[in-house]
Amino acid sequence: MKTVNVIGAGLAGSEAAWQVAKAGVPVRLYEMRPKKSTEAHHTGNFAELVCSNSLRGNNLTNAVGVLKEEMRRLDSVIITSADQTAVPAGGALAVDRDTFSELITKRVKEHPLVTVVEEEITEIPEGITIVATGPLTSAPLAQAIKEFNGSDGFYFYDAAAPIIDKNTIDMEKVYLKSRYNKGEAAYLNCPMNKEEFEAFREALVTAEVAPLKDFEEEKYFEGCMPIEVMATRGPKTMLFGPMKPVGLEDPKTGKRPYAVIQLRQDNAVASLYNIVGFQTHLKWGEQKRVFQMIPGLENAEIVRYGVMHRNSFMNSPELLHQTYQSRKRDDLFFAGQMTGVEGYVESAASGLVAGINAAKMAKQEELIVFPQETAIGSMAYYITHASGKHFQPMNANFGLFPELPERIRDKKTRYETLANRALDALATVEGVQVTV
Ligand code: FAD
Repeated sequence: MKTVNVIGAGLAGSEAAWQVAKAGVPVRLYEMRPKKSTEAHHTGNFAELVCSNSLRGNNLTNAVGVLKEEMRRLDSVIITSADQTAVPAGGALAVDRDTFSELITKRVKEHPLVTVVEEEITEIPEGITIVATGPLTSAPLAQAIKEFNGSDGFYFYDAAAPIIDKNTIDMEKVYLKSRYNKGEAAYLNCPMNKEEFEAFREALVTAEVAPLKDFEEEKYFEGCMPIEVMATRGPKTMLFGPMKPVGLEDPKTGKRPYAVIQLRQDNAVASLYNIVGFQTHLKWGEQKRVFQMIPGLENAEIVRYGVMHRNSFMNSPELLHQTYQSRKRDDLFFAGQMTGVEGYVESAASGLVAGINAAKMAKQEELIVFPQETAIGSMAYYITHASGKHFQPMNANFGLFPELPERIRDKKTRYETLANRALDALATVEGVQVTV
């Protein structure tokens, strides 16, 4: 039996290796950490979450919730491990980031068909291979990929939010609540009046940002825009984004504050909280000064500062098939953020498809294209059929699903219908085990 090489044990690579091994095919999984790290990773664990600890919406009226359910049914190591290490987060699936990645590392490493090689790969290997080295692919391999694909990679920036030690939060000033009281109360909310908001915004837009290093041109990905950049977009932009107060009335006054900053639990023991939506590229000293203006955080200790990193992805519409195979080389697959799917869950989902298909190739079986009606198939369809000229990374969303035959006006009913159709379509896929 041929062995499959998987390069990178991140969200996509861990899932891909798991799926290959589960299919009875031996895998060699190459990971350069902890010997060599990236600008955003902190540990040597597999599937480390580099920013938020949230895997986003978890119900079926949300496309990423449908994607997760499909992955559960396909025995995804990422989603089943997330379920086991979840922390309270209202309607979202958030995890204790350490136990989450430790569990995945253990499960993947302990699989008898997985051999882990701690090594940086600098050239694309021969044989059936899945490249899943992520948005922070090390430079020599990034160059090799660029040369192989024969086109310039795109790049942009995104940024990680600071994490706060809960013990240093003034609990008298903040309150526990989820927006609209949905699910159990999961967020600590820091309320601001108009004057406080205006002073805070002023401090944000005048604070010093860290110098940009190797990049010539700034391009922010709208979904992960640094808070200081958002603050410059207009006096009220943040009030419609991460500082939105609706549904967050202060229980002490019964009134809606002018602005609210939310803190989300970051680990299972609830000792750490991240500032939701506050990815930032401010200098660390400036982060301390500006974020301590937030009511309740006057003496807060930032245990991990926000940082900003490069991000790169390939022009998949011109380079990949829906199986995540390279159009140039049949036995070469790409998976994860580098293919232009955006987000932890989407990256893992692409690894799942690449893994299933690489195993099929090793077993000389027919490869699978998941139906476009499924969330997993809609992502593969999007990255291979979008316009190559303006290709941008994409999160799972219902807009990628084919339209329903009839128009359903009620949004909730429409989304439920799309979700049910997706799960029905998944059940019809031949050649893969779908467990309900
Ligand atoms: P990764 O998870 O990064 O895995 C790639 C792996 O390959 C790493 O373990 C790396 O060490 C290894 N590697 C790299 N080069 C080599 C080499 N040459 N040889 C061997 N191993 C190598 N998504 C969200 O949903 N929420 C967020 O909050 C979020 N924040 C982000 C913040 C930052 C700073 C960045 C860069 C991205 C963020 N993303 C976020 C986007 C994306 O979902 C994550 O980057 C996700 O980890 C991508 O999964 P992946 O498997 O493609 O890459």
